[in-house]
Amino acid sequence: MLIQHEPLVIDFNVRHLLAWRPSSLRMDDIDEAHFNAACGLARVQHFVISGFLALLVYNLFLLVDVRMIPDVYPQALHMRLYMFSPVALIMLLCGMAFKQYIARMPRYVLEGVLMMTGVVAALHMGWLLQHSNSPYAGMYTAGLVPITIYGNLVQRFRFRYALVFSLVVMGTCLACVWARSDRVNLYDVFDVPLALLVAVIAIYTLAMNYRFELEERRRFQWQVRAQALHKQLEASQVQLDELSRQDSLTGVPNRRHVDAYLRQHWDQAQQAGDELALLLMDVDHFKAFNDRYGHPAGDQCLKHVARALQQHVPPQVGCVARWGGEEFIVVLPRAQLHVAMRRAQALCHVVHGLGLRHDAAPTLGCVTISVGVAVVRPSSGASIDSIDSLIAQADAALYRAKAGGRNRAEAPLSPVSG
Ligand code: GH3
Ligand code: MG
Ligand code: MG
Repeated sequence: MLIQHEPLVIDFNVRHLLAWRPSSLRMDDIDEAHFNAACGLARVQHFVISGFLALLVYNLFLLVDVRMIPDVYPQALHMRLYMFSPVALIMLLCGMAFKQYIARMPRYVLEGVLMMTGVVAALHMGWLLQHSNSPYAGMYTAGLVPITIYGNLVQRFRFRYALVFSLVVMGTCLACVWARSDRVNLYDVFDVPLALLVAVIAIYTLAMNYRFELEERRRFQWQVRAQALHKQLEASQVQLDELSRQDSLTGVPNRRHVDAYLRQHWDQAQQAGDELALLLMDVDHFKAFNDRYGHPAGDQCLKHVARALQQHVPPQVGCVARWGGEEFIVVLPRAQLHVAMRRAQALCHVVHGLGLRHDAAPTLGCVTISVGVAVVRPSSGASIDSIDSLIAQADAALYRAKAGGRNRAEAPLSPVSG
């Protein structure tokens, strides 16, 4: 069996991501889906944890309400504690219980709902500010600062949503300043400076929000790149390993491979008490072939012989390898002597049957091989030296096959001890 090498294929999505140079948040639809799927669960977990914290802070602001806008405190209490909190709690508990499902929801639903929590909090604050006649109401605008920070930095809405949210916050702030402009109150002088503060903080946090998201996308891209490189490295290692075990001329396994194969099956035979057969074969009068037809023709001849041997020894039966020069080896696990001899004779027949012309051969006129057979039943104490002695036995048998006239298989004179 010739080893086929597939070209390395990088996953389509990965290839896109590798080409992406993140200077903006824009990704194409496929990569965006890939990104969202990869960070969905972590994002839901983040929403839930910071959501609980934010809800606590949101209700703590009742202490501010009661001191700064006592005239609308009942409405503040109603909204914060009885309306917003139960809904937010249900959402957070659902987020905890069904995070796997929520992570798979369309992104705009999740991000949209999340943004609405910030928008509602901002609008509610604006409403209270509008309806309060407290002399401190002018300073109440400062409450929009933590709301802005909540959306842009704590929950870290995705930038597009953070932008809409920040515009709503700034719009609310301006609307309040404008609506309160006809009321004259000692602390209303803070309206404009605080509105400016809210706007500046919204812009700063928005810029940070953008930066964070860009970094998050970059990190994701680097992860994908690292994974792709890792995969490529693994695939190249497999290819290199295969190449290092393959004979470059004939494509059959080389000596390095068959050495490992032999050791592995030696151990198996040792454990199972099976036989292990080894066929050492050599092309007859090959020097004369080269001299007559040239080296390139000799190479072609070796390829034909190798392919024929491989076709007649399927992987489930044994392993064919190039042992060196014009010598090949076949390892046959679980083969007794008579089976190995039959196989060896069949291989002689097969090579002869190829009909590769060899006018320089003293006999037959075509390419033939001689085979030396050795069979062993490895004993439990047998070592690597025993493998060497098995090979030596096969070599001795090959020598006798040559001496006996070539194009034949010979077995050892005495059984090999393992
Ligand atoms: P015998 O029947 O006794 O085996 O005779 P032989 O001529 O085959 O044996 P010998 O060892 O004298 O010659 C082997 C030849 O095989 C010599 C060498 O040039 C040739 N050979 C070894 N490797 C290659 C190869 O990769 N390509 C080619 N074309 N020839 C090779
Ligand atoms: Mg030789
Ligand atoms: Mg030879």
